Amino acid sequence: MEKAYRHRSGILRLRVATLRMTVGNSSQLFGIGDAILVQGEEAPGQALRLSYNILQAAGSRIFKTDYVACPSCGRTLFNLQTTTAKIKAATLHLKGVKIAIMGCIVNGPGEMADADFGYVGGAPGKVNLYVGKTAVKFNIPEAEAVDRLKDLIREHGKWIEPAHHAAALEPA
Ligand code: SF4
Repeated sequence: MEKAYRHRSGILRLRVATLRMTVGNSSQLFGIGDAILVQGEEAPGQALRLSYNILQAAGSRIFKTDYVACPSCGRTLFNLQTTTAKIKAATLHLKGVKIAIMGCIVNGPGEMADADFGYVGGAPGKVNLYVGKTAVKFNIPEAEAVDRLKDLIREHGKWIEPAHHAAALEPA
């Protein structure tokens, strides 16, 4: 344990774990905990980004979109990394919206947890879109699927135009 204290990243992990517990407990028990201070980060803005991410993970302060993505496997029907990056680039500013990105329809819909919208591989090169756990759009060509996802979010009243300051809060 002492070694962990001497190692900088070890100290940070310990602090983050403590903060997660503190924020989670305080928000559940007392309805407080929407601000924290993280110290020890040298890069400018890193402590701020880390603080926001901890608060979002604890459910205490939602400032950006939440994502659920499958780990990918032999069934994955699209490039999960590049697709996730594209979806994030288009939707990251949607505060409070949860989007699932799943590689296939075999297990994807069952693993989307409580996502508001789902982007799921339906066939090679084709995507199905979900609202909650219900499939509502089928066999969309992959090239236009992110735009159709944006349309779907709009149809359900959860779309807002990106604000200029959103990128500044985006954690790495
Ligand atoms: S959702 Fe489909 S592609 Fe993703 S890990 Fe599960 S089975 Fe594999």
